[in-house]
Amino acid sequence: MTPVSYLRAGSAADALRLGAVQGHRLLGGGTNLVDLMRKGVEQPGVLVDVTGLPALIEEAADGSIVIGAAARNSSVAAHPLVRTRYPMLSRAILGGASAQIRNMATVGGNLLQRTRCLYFADAAGSRCNKREPGSGCDARGGFTRYHAILGASPACIATHPSDMAVALAALDARVHLASAEGVRTLSLLDLHRLPGDRPDLETVLAPGEMIVAIELPPSDVAARSIYRKVRDRASYAFALVSVAAGLALDGDRIVDVRIALGGVAAKPWRALRAEATLRGGPATAEAFARAAEVELAEAAPLPGNAFKVPLATRTMAAVLAQLSGEQA
Ligand SMILES: Cc1cc2nc3c(=O)[nH]c(=O)nc-3n(C[C@H](O)[C@H](O)[C@H](O)COP(=O)(O)OP(=O)(O)OC[C@H]3O[C@@H](n4cnc5c(N)ncnc54)[C@H](O)[C@@H]3O)c2cc1C
Repeated sequence: MTPVSYLRAGSAADALRLGAVQGHRLLGGGTNLVDLMRKGVEQPGVLVDVTGLPALIEEAADGSIVIGAAARNSSVAAHPLVRTRYPMLSRAILGGASAQIRNMATVGGNLLQRTRCLYFADAAGSRCNKREPGSGCDARGGFTRYHAILGASPACIATHPSDMAVALAALDARVHLASAEGVRTLSLLDLHRLPGDRPDLETVLAPGEMIVAIELPPSDVAARSIYRKVRDRASYAFALVSVAAGLALDGDRIVDVRIALGGVAAKPWRALRAEATLRGGPATAEAFARAAEVELAEAAPLPGNAFKVPLATRTMAAVLAQLSGEQA
């Protein structure tokens, strides 16, 4: 067993100072990090607990909702502001893990959880470019049912497992970061990276940089929005494919639309091509099916996950049809 020390950050300044030390890792609820430590995938020498940092969920002057990185997943899902203004986010969180895990898991930890690729988690027996750059990828040619069909690379076909992140991608959420160098804010769409030839670099976070909050901007499409997750079991299973979508209509015309997919790529996949196809056009079943086909046109599946292409196409079209029916 590898010894590990535990420190508790009393303030954001504390967390930044302690978290920036090489070999130290921030600890949220620990539901992912501690699992991976048990498997020998992660080996931090010191854990810096950040669950005592602000977990507020509050409305800003411009109507945005700001959620502290230490807020527990279950608190976010249950919050009245989230449930009424951003129902897809509430549904996405409740579609993930179990009640016990959601009670522990934090917003920051959820966004930065690692892939569930079996070969990544098998430190003792499998080659993985994400875990050990340049070692190879045993997922290719292996069991690929849960792997990526969009944005993958020869080096890595892993998917990002977070449900919450998919809803946040559709909602144009912003991520507030802090480091010893200062603070910055970026779009959630820019937080995670596609693998390219460096799948070990999963986000744009600099060493020692931490998530302090996320921000949900006011949205015309969010109040009537859906998160649909297709999975092998009705609960306690990661997405094969998921769709987060919101639609604003004027009669039968689409005024605005937001769509993101989960379970298909190394990051939450914002369906910008589908959105562009739909915006300003008619809200018909044909238009929804066509937009979904446009989005999936560049999918590059493997034999073991080719089923995800029609599954994602049909799920996206069905979710949009449901939304348009609800608003008719
Ligand atoms: C059995 C099981 C089933 C699950 N099913 C699902 C599912 O269906 N859908 C889903 O979305 N998730 C699922 N999960 C994953 C779960 O949601 C994550 O484990 C959880 O959200 C991680 O949050 P945490 O606070 O526990 O993170 P931790 O494990 O504490 O941390 C995860 C990572 O985030 C880093 N980190 C934490 N906080 C910060 C911060 N503020 N700034 C920078 N870095 C930080 C840590 O250093 C670590 O690298 C499942 C987990 C389990 C065990």
